Amino acid sequence: MTSNLFYDFVFVGSGAAGLLCAYRMSQDPYFDQKRILLIDKDVKNTHDRTWCFWENGRGEWDQILSMQWKNIIFKSDSFHKTIALENYSYKMIRSGDFYRSILKVLESKKNFEFLNDDIIALHDEKNQLKVECKNTTITCSKVLNSIFDPNVLAQNHSFPYLKQHFIGWFIETEEDVFNPEGATFMDFTVEQKGNTRFMYILPFSKNKALIEYTLFSADLLQDEFYEIEITEYIKQLGITQYKITEKEQGNIPMTCYPFEKYNSKNIIHIGSAGGWTKPSTGFTFKRITEYSQNLVDFLKLNDDLRLFSVRSRHWYYDLIFIDVLWRDNSKGSEVFSSIFRKNKIQDVLSFLDEKSNFWTELKIMYRTSPRWLFTKSALNNIKNFFN
Ligand SMILES: Cc1cc2nc3c(=O)[nH]c(=O)nc-3n(C[C@H](O)[C@H](O)[C@H](O)COP(=O)(O)OP(=O)(O)OC[C@H]3O[C@@H](n4cnc5c(N)ncnc54)[C@H](O)[C@@H]3O)c2cc1C
Repeated sequence: MTSNLFYDFVFVGSGAAGLLCAYRMSQDPYFDQKRILLIDKDVKNTHDRTWCFWENGRGEWDQILSMQWKNIIFKSDSFHKTIALENYSYKMIRSGDFYRSILKVLESKKNFEFLNDDIIALHDEKNQLKVECKNTTITCSKVLNSIFDPNVLAQNHSFPYLKQHFIGWFIETEEDVFNPEGATFMDFTVEQKGNTRFMYILPFSKNKALIEYTLFSADLLQDEFYEIEITEYIKQLGITQYKITEKEQGNIPMTCYPFEKYNSKNIIHIGSAGGWTKPSTGFTFKRITEYSQNLVDFLKLNDDLRLFSVRSRHWYYDLIFIDVLWRDNSKGSEVFSSIFRKNKIQDVLSFLDEKSNFWTELKIMYRTSPRWLFTKSALNNIKNFFN
């Protein structure tokens, strides 16, 4: 790769968002004559994370699902229920399967190229962009940037910012202890310690599961503290003999911070770096599948990239929600218990998917406690709404 190569589009980072946008382009003849480069520091063809999402009926990724569940379990001290998802399923993809299936398509197209390099800086010059990598510099017309810069959020003082952080163990037990019919979505019966803390269990068979200790809070824990909690939880499940076959760890931003303000005429931030993570839940994968199509349709207009927006009224609901847990992080169990106890699951899922109608949204908000805290946060964030 030499420094005088010119591309129409360069993907700076090619994880979930980069690959999905590139895949959407590869399916649209408009981009057949465009030179497109994907740059990543890693070779993205092996498993490095597990993605789950709910979906109504059949979906685009069904062929590469590793698992799906028709029930979810919610547990807290005040409410415990196995909830039938009816027309929805909770689906799981191993990222390695996703990367390989997308790469197979992109590698078959002549106009897509790949570069394995460390990106150091982006230079936004008058009529062209320069992507400075460790070993080369690339020039191009447009950049789709999915490299998340935590310093951006470190400088934020006006938007509430929590992290969804977790460590998960894939375990294999000697005895049959799990029920693969239902995924434990949230188990708040673990000690809250002033935070929003829960266990998340994905059972793959009677003796294999992923057990994740998760917090929605401002500060990370030392690794050993997540692991102490997982060990204790496994003991409480009555499991004595097991082996850990894999581990995974995450730290997902939960904020309504307007990442789009870093976009320019020719650079757009995508994925978590573009604020595509659903702030109130940390779920990102499904949103990437939708926003990637919207973005690729927008790119065909050859417009100023600052005009692309994913913001809707749900952004404000998320802002209030995050603000509540940011002001009083101990309230998560109460908030989620009220949501799951008082509403139909279809309404909750369509609300979180931002596909609900306004009446359903009002009902859910009215039924979510503590109502006084939500009212206070709604009033406190009016100025952020106009930001
Ligand atoms: C362990 C884990 C589990 C998750 N589970 C779920 C889930 O169940 N459901 C859900 O909806 N979301 C989940 N998420 C959140 C989200 O879906 C993922 O983080 C998703 O990968 C975000 O996509 P992205 O493209 O924004 O970022 P990434 O997929 O992280 O892509 C960014 C890319 O940039 C590359 N990069 C970074 N810095 C450089 C550099 N300097 N030079 C070159 N390349 C660079 C990285 O190698 C990476 O490939 C999970 C996240 C993690 C970490």
